Parts: sequence; structure tokens; C-alpha cells
Amino acid sequence: MLGAATDDIVQPFQVDPFRLRGRLVRLGPVIDEILTRHAYPAAVAAMLGEAIAIAVTLAGALKYEGVCTLQTKGDGPIRFMVADVTTAGAVRGYAQFDRARLDELGAAAELSVPRLLGAGYLALTVDQGEHTERYQGIVALEGGSLAECVHHYFRQSEQVEAGLKVAVARHRNGDGHAHWRAGALMIERLPKENDTRSREDEDEGWRRAMILMSTSTTQELLDSSLPPEDLLFRLFHEDGVRAYRPHDLAARCRCSPERVESMLTALGPAELADLKVEGKVIVTCEFCNRVYAYDDAQLAALAAS
Ligand SMILES: [Zn+2]
Repeated sequence: MLGAATDDIVQPFQVDPFRLRGRLVRLGPVIDEILTRHAYPAAVAAMLGEAIAIAVTLAGALKYEGVCTLQTKGDGPIRFMVADVTTAGAVRGYAQFDRARLDELGAAAELSVPRLLGAGYLALTVDQGEHTERYQGIVALEGGSLAECVHHYFRQSEQVEAGLKVAVARHRNGDGHAHWRAGALMIERLPKENDTRSREDEDEGWRRAMILMSTSTTQELLDSSLPPEDLLFRLFHEDGVRAYRPHDLAARCRCSPERVESMLTALGPAELADLKVEGKVIVTCEFCNRVYAYDDAQLAALAAS
């Protein structure tokens, strides 16, 4: 065993003969906390859960300290979703939706991108600090699931050959409460090197890896009692899988009084006056629901600082 934690983790791995690296993601209490905090309807929670699991999986590939953000915007009942994950493992996300339109759809819409998100786009942003270039890739929401939309993005970008599998579900535990869980498995091909191995062998190995990945079941991705290394071994043991030290994840927002105050000081007096409700400016973080309130005296102090 490399690490004791087997839940709320990213487990990186490599399969050298296939020249691929990958990440297995397990989300338990972290995803449950984020999705239940907002009391989202099940269809919204499941879709946002999938977005968060994908963002976590993609963030695991970053080389430097940074933030990976996945956003969707569409004309369906879920208007907007955002999931962002830091390389240090802080995970957060929220969704904006139209409850009346969602109710019209009923249960049939579960995890369907065309029905829930509608026509629109998915954007992936990678920000690795001031010394690197901010990267953003955008793709139309084309696919039945978010994972399919991301596949579409991989194909379009032509820089990454990758496969992705995601699972989200709500399970009733022994305590009688329903808890959200999510899991994801991603493999990506490493850049080609000049060696004796033929291109055909490499392509064949990649196809085999994609098939092996597709044999992993929703049950396996979500099963908290199945150690991540055991699942990787089950899938790729014949081909020599190497598991690396897992990274821990936590449901943690990056909002702070300093950030809210710097945003408020950037506004003019007229704009601040517009924001006032019963004499106070109230800012609620959409990610974590934390409320920041400022009265006139505090605003004056901010303006003078
Ligand atoms: Zn917050």
C-alpha cells in the first residue's frame, strides 16, 4: 500500500508498455458535502457531480501549481455549471438552474446533456500562475454525457489522445442517509519517443488500454471498499501497471474576506449603493454559501484603506 487513504483521492498511475499515464479518482465525503450543501435536485446534483469528477481528473495532470476549471453554459434547465480544482486538492463547484423547467423534464433527464444543459459550450481553463500562459479550450456541448463532450474536446484539440470514464450515484448507507459518490478513470497517451517499438505496436497497445478501461464498471468506480490500486491491478495487471502516491482531495472554497473586499474596493460609490440591501452590502459566495456583510462604517473604512 502506498497510502492509507482510499477515498477522496486522485491515484496516478502509469502503464509503460502502453506508454500511457492515467488517474483514478475516488470522491466520497467531498462530493457529498458539495452537492448536499446546496440541496440541488437529483438531476442537477448528478450533472454537477460529473463535472466535478472530470475537473478533478484533469487537474491531476497539471505539472505546476494551479487551478483547473470546467464550465458549461447552455440553454437547457441547467444554465451554468462551474467546477474548479487546485493542484493542492481543493475542490468546489456550483450550478445555476431553472427549477420549473427541470420539473417539466421529470426523472427521464438524468445525466442527459441534451436535455439538461441544452445547446451551448463546455470550457476548460488551466491557470498555473503568473509565470505561465493561461490556457482555455472551448467545445460545443455535443454528446449524450459530459464525459462524451470532453472526449469530443480531446479529439478536436488533437494534442491529447485520451479516454475518460465517469460514474456518479447516490447510495443509501448503513446510517439510512443517502450519500453522493463519484468516480472517474482517465488514461492518456504519453508523447511519442524515438525507440525501436513500431508505431503499429504502440497503436495496438493504446487500443487495448482503451478496451481495458471500458471494461471497468460503474460499480467498480464507485465502490469505496475496493482499494484504487486493486482496481488498477484488476484492469492492467498483465501489462505492468505502476501506481504512484495518491493525492488527497478536500471540499474547500477559496473565497476570503480579502478577495471580497478587493472586489468591493474596485467598485465605484454608485455601484456600491446599488448593491445595498437594508443599508448593507451583502456578498454571498455561490460556491460555499458563505455570507460577507458590510455596513456603511465598514465600507467607509474599506474605501479609506
Ligand atoms: Zn466560498
